[in-house]
Amino acid sequence: MAILVLGGAGYIGSHAVHELIEQNVKVVVMDNLETGHKKAIHPKAKFYKGDIRDRDQLVEVFNQEEIEGVLHFAASSLVWESMIKPVKYFDNNVYGMMVLLDVMNQFNVKNIVFSSTAATYGESDVVPIHEDVSTRPTNPYGESKRMMEQIMKWCELAHGIKYVSLRYFNVAGAMRDGIIGEDHDPETHLIPIVLETALGKRKHVTIFGCDYDTKDGTCIRDYVHVDDLIQAHILALQYLIAGNESTVFNLGSNEGYSVKEIIETAEIVTGKKIQTVLGDRRLGDPPILVASSQKAKNILGWEPKKSNIEQIIYDAWIWHSKNPNGYRE
Ligand code: UDP
Repeated sequence: MAILVLGGAGYIGSHAVHELIEQNVKVVVMDNLETGHKKAIHPKAKFYKGDIRDRDQLVEVFNQEEIEGVLHFAASSLVWESMIKPVKYFDNNVYGMMVLLDVMNQFNVKNIVFSSTAATYGESDVVPIHEDVSTRPTNPYGESKRMMEQIMKWCELAHGIKYVSLRYFNVAGAMRDGIIGEDHDPETHLIPIVLETALGKRKHVTIFGCDYDTKDGTCIRDYVHVDDLIQAHILALQYLIAGNESTVFNLGSNEGYSVKEIIETAEIVTGKKIQTVLGDRRLGDPPILVASSQKAKNILGWEPKKSNIEQIIYDAWIWHSKNPNGYRE
């Protein structure tokens, strides 16, 4: 039996594949390589290049392989892009999920761990955010993930497909040895941009908005180390395979850092001065997103070990300084 990792060539998916293989699990990867990198795929994983919206191709993978469960990372995930290309997000994310669940049902595959997001909550008055807080997304990305969760809920009722939806807060860091890490083109995430600036690849970091109602006027986010995040996926998979009920968990560190604090910490970790420029607010950005992850700790027994901000930035720094051009030669 194998675990199918959809989006296993992407930043988070590739870390999941490495960890599963480390734990001697048989892994099948499907990725359309639109944002993922072939080099990020573990050599021991069986790889199919394909898009989950392509039903025939997905059926082919389920026909060829004995799939026991699915980890679903294959989605578009940029808040700002979703504001200008909403249909891309509903097509890739929501339609992709519809095809996937239909094919899982056809092949009687009953377990899925899904990458959801804090963006499902939108602007919450409750901080830290727990899973019972109402979801009111402020961008199509968050809306698409909320819809995907709803579709899973109805497919559970109709077909008995069990799911765990993991609502990530801000994922960063990399595997300590610098073999795989974060490489987006274009890069739009804060920590990689800050580190590329420290490396001299960029002149400055633009701070998107310094007039938010926060301690220093910049947005606050909760950063979780990718390795800790992946441990939660493995626990969630075990939880489902053990026959437990479908549910949603937040994954974060329970601590919020402002954009300015991230830049200051990166200056300490890298020993480099990082130039900044003040810019306008970015479309769709909620001011504060901080998680309560107590539920994942209580039910899954999740124990984040690396999610202090210095370690996250340090591990990302190792990846960026060893691979200044990412996966490109
Ligand atoms: N951000 C910024 N400058 C950048 C990139 C990001 O000020 O060049 C801010 C962004 O507005 C947000 C925070 O950093 O408040 C985290 O953004 P990121 O894109 O990393 O993750 P998101 O929270 O959008 O998922």
